[in-house]
Amino acid sequence: MLARRWFTNDGPYVVELERRLEDHLGVRHCVTANSGSAAMLLAIRGLDLSGEVIVPSFTFVGTAHSVAWMGLKPVFCDIDRATWNIDPTACEAAVTPNTSAILGVHLFGRGCNAAALKRIATSHDLRLVFDAAHAFGCSLEGRRVGGFGDAEVFSFHATKSFHTFEGGAVTTDDDVLASKLRAFRSHGISDLDRTIGLGTNARMSEVCAAMGLANLDSYEATLKASHTVHQAYERGLEAVPGLDLRESAINEESNWHYVVAEVEEAECGLSRDSLIEVLRSNNVLARRYFYPGCHALEPYVTEQPDAGRLLPETERAAARSILFPAGSSMAPEDVDRVCALVRDLVGCSS
Ligand SMILES: *Cc1c(COP(=O)(O)O)cnc(C)c1O
Repeated sequence: MLARRWFTNDGPYVVELERRLEDHLGVRHCVTANSGSAAMLLAIRGLDLSGEVIVPSFTFVGTAHSVAWMGLKPVFCDIDRATWNIDPTACEAAVTPNTSAILGVHLFGRGCNAAALKRIATSHDLRLVFDAAHAFGCSLEGRRVGGFGDAEVFSFHATKSFHTFEGGAVTTDDDVLASKLRAFRSHGISDLDRTIGLGTNARMSEVCAAMGLANLDSYEATLKASHTVHQAYERGLEAVPGLDLRESAINEESNWHYVVAEVEEAECGLSRDSLIEVLRSNNVLARRYFYPGCHALEPYVTEQPDAGRLLPETERAAARSILFPAGSSMAPEDVDRVCALVRDLVGCSS
């Protein structure tokens, strides 16, 4: 990159990364961007969304912010108790004449119910987009996440399973959409002296693409290391009463990047919040995740103060979820120490 003196603007590393991600994910187009959020803004604009977009409240606040940043209204929808993903029944009930799209989130690497959401989108003539920031490397209905709906949006932020330091991408099989997104991410420029309309700078730089290529080369090893860590947690927490690891979908691939459990205080004998507090005081950086739901954060809590009434499962999950430190950079011995500490705190023998 330094020898070429080509640092950004569709450089060779960006082009190579896009081609390899298209292959890896099995999609026609991968349009990279400089963050997952920038990619989401491009997708929202590329699909001409307007009015209201239905999104789960139990997600990273960035999902809702992208909708609101584009001047649209996120309409919060409840989740399914079994999967903690968007609940199709609640989603359909939230459709109004102003709805333009459904934005599903594949939370914690588990694909959401794309088939049911597609039926709803088709019958109400809505666009269907997925926030796949948690689901790189995961499968749904036996295929890689990335090719569902009108578009899927990935984040390649440093904290994700696959990363480019900062970055993201829109994946789609729609040729027209992909070419619009390529123009939008570079000031709307389509040719040397032409623009197709509004645009911005959402380009990925060469140094980020190079990081992505290196990480893609070692991605199998990353998955394996994350799986080892996940399995160490499964074994280590199995006997802890009132602490249930959230499971990945049967017969689907996971990236094993998120170790999330549900705390049932009555059985555990310790509240979720006190458990986290003690873990953190022992330098184990567990956290409430997601807490609170987006609807309870600004600006939504002020703009839509009653939203929580329709979100009982979101409130329940936000009150019970705990995210443990995990991922490929954690040593299995450290997982064993974390689990031993939890077993100690909860007072179980094994
Ligand atoms: C990380 C993340 C985003 C935002 O991606 P950035 O690359 O940080 O902009 C959006 N949604 C979810 C679910 C995420 O986890």
